[in-house]
Amino acid sequence: METKTLKRLTRLIAPYRIDDGKKFKLKHVDPGDTGGLGSEYKDEASEWLQQTIGWLAEEQEKLFAQDKWAVLLIFQAMDAAGKDSTIKHVMSGINPQGCEVTSFKVPTSNEIDHDFLWRTNRRLPERGRIGIFNRSYYEEVLVVRVHPDILVRQKLPRGLITKKIWKERYEDISAYERYLTRNGVAIRKFFLHVSQEEQRRRFLERIDDQEKNWKFSAQDVREREHWDDYMRAFEDAIRATATPHAPWFVVPADNKWFTRIVVAGAIVELMEGLGLRYPVLADEQRAELLTMRQRLVPRKRNRS
Ligand code: AMP
Ligand code: MG
Repeated sequence: METKTLKRLTRLIAPYRIDDGKKFKLKHVDPGDTGGLGSEYKDEASEWLQQTIGWLAEEQEKLFAQDKWAVLLIFQAMDAAGKDSTIKHVMSGINPQGCEVTSFKVPTSNEIDHDFLWRTNRRLPERGRIGIFNRSYYEEVLVVRVHPDILVRQKLPRGLITKKIWKERYEDISAYERYLTRNGVAIRKFFLHVSQEEQRRRFLERIDDQEKNWKFSAQDVREREHWDDYMRAFEDAIRATATPHAPWFVVPADNKWFTRIVVAGAIVELMEGLGLRYPVLADEQRAELLTMRQRLVPRKRNRS
């Protein structure tokens, strides 16, 4: 990627990158923010996004060829914040063989029968791949925190459910992310931060537009009533788990064109930082290739 474009992207995403949780407050990020770009930048931004997507596709091929790093992208948000469409757009140029998206729903009884990191751990990307989590183990300190009755149904030994449980889960998540990082899994976490008013507008659209009816769920409207509790849970989780090696991006999500460019920019920054290169062969491997080449080149017939 051109250094100029990369610099511009890096500057654009910087305010939304949280790698020292202790200083973070959710009120610092306005869901309607567009990084000082007016809506007249919408077209330019979409062109930019296309360029970025093309570049990402090349990087992904190097990631695959090198087969050392794995990339894990985690998406969390309130309903209708645009997780699915952001994933769809940003990853649209990527070779499907090198990328896997997993959506985590209400845990099954088999999943509940295990520790809370079990189900996500099984879906981690292999080396050389990009794994996308549409929701994740963070639900364990978000929806479960907002609805403690879920915790009661989790089959934990009674004595382990204490007031400290959320702090303990943050610690476990942080330790797990540090462990993954040390094993070559590069992590980025995205909270798509939509306003309650924009969510209301999007829900109404899902009701009014027949083609969007399938996206509407009455449960989502009920969850909306717990808005403040969710915001507190998000803020606490981000404060406790944002680190330089596994930063959160708190992405303004009221304008989808801006959400996409910030997410794409953060992935570009990550991949750039990995310094991906196609593997270079050792001299003897190269010599062997040349021998093979000789065999493949048609022999010239002697015409005389
Ligand atoms: P959706 O992504 O809209 O299809 O909804 C998935 C639902 O599963 C959301 O309401 C999540 O809050 C819920 N969910 C995901 N993970 C968990 C979990 N660990 N415990 C309880 N509910 C969860
Ligand atoms: Mg939903």
